[in-house]
Amino acid sequence: MPEVGVEGQEKLKAAKVLLIGTGGLGSPAALYLAAAGVGTLGLIDFDRVDFSNLQRQIIHSTDSVGKPKVDSAKERLNQINPNVKVVTYDEMLTKDNILHILKDYEILLDGTDNFQTRYLVNDACVFAKKPFVYGSIFRFDGQATVFYPGKGPCYRCLFAEPPPPGMVPSCSEGGVLGILPGVIGVIQATEVVKLIIGKGEPLIGRLMLYDALKMNFREVKFRRNPKCPVCGDSPTITELIDYDAFCGISRGEEKKTMETNGIPEITAKELKAKMDRKEKFVLIDVREPNEFQINQIPGAKLIPLGNVPERVHELDSADEIVVNCHFGGRSAKAVQFLQKAGFKKIKNLAGGIDAWSQDVDPSCPRY
Ligand code: ZN
Repeated sequence: MPEVGVEGQEKLKAAKVLLIGTGGLGSPAALYLAAAGVGTLGLIDFDRVDFSNLQRQIIHSTDSVGKPKVDSAKERLNQINPNVKVVTYDEMLTKDNILHILKDYEILLDGTDNFQTRYLVNDACVFAKKPFVYGSIFRFDGQATVFYPGKGPCYRCLFAEPPPPGMVPSCSEGGVLGILPGVIGVIQATEVVKLIIGKGEPLIGRLMLYDALKMNFREVKFRRNPKCPVCGDSPTITELIDYDAFCGISRGEEKKTMETNGIPEITAKELKAKMDRKEKFVLIDVREPNEFQINQIPGAKLIPLGNVPERVHELDSADEIVVNCHFGGRSAKAVQFLQKAGFKKIKNLAGGIDAWSQDVDPSCPRY
């Protein structure tokens, strides 16, 4: 192909790509990157091949059940292309090893299935100024984008907060169409190749949403958040943090609901019924402007969480108020603040706008 040429082939041969995870997304991505002639592929995964995942983790086979996934993947990749140097890391990616591993690679491909690792990968990539190609899958929905520090927004610009623990089920709990990660993993591999050869328009600042049931692709644009804690103008996170704690994973502690913490809630369906009854109330969205640009609930007024104290005079405590954010965490903080300021008729939208998309309006894009 003229876009690739000899020069492109040489760039591919010299390229070093780290794949985080060799599961649903990592499998197809690794196969295609090896076949495309990417010179060095790093694979990190601490898991073993399991029979129940083979329908989507197509790099592995029944023969390798029980083996370390990285060994099984390496074998297969070298069968496809013996010239690819495959470096394996049979360990869990942590804040203690990520920067050390990362320094040998130019591009990361994120095939993880948990939020702690994703925030870890993002922050490490921002510090190391390296791009990471993101993909995620659930049931029949997939999404992909490229986070390129210095050239576009980062993961935290788009996902300011992790969902409350337990709210988003994993693929093994919630299920996923086995073919779906094939589509998303191949999109990720495509973006990696484009970044390597420096051709085309990378998915920077564009989130690709794929719906396998409707068989359509949508694209939502998003920008860097100047107030982003890690890539913003005055970052507050300047070194790797405790990502388990950040994502609210405190093992052994009982999960508390918002209600038991004294935060009154309303569900997305109840909110819709309230709208249909034409009840009078004020809806406040406390996300960041870049998130508000992606999706919003009709009639919502934007007051980012950080600006609530200085803009509280815009609200009337006599009004009934509903507060929403992405998943319900930031809006709970806003409700607590407003309760202290004397607001009594105030409720948190449980599950945030994500619950609205799922339970009320499927045309409202999820991110
Ligand atoms: Zn950012």
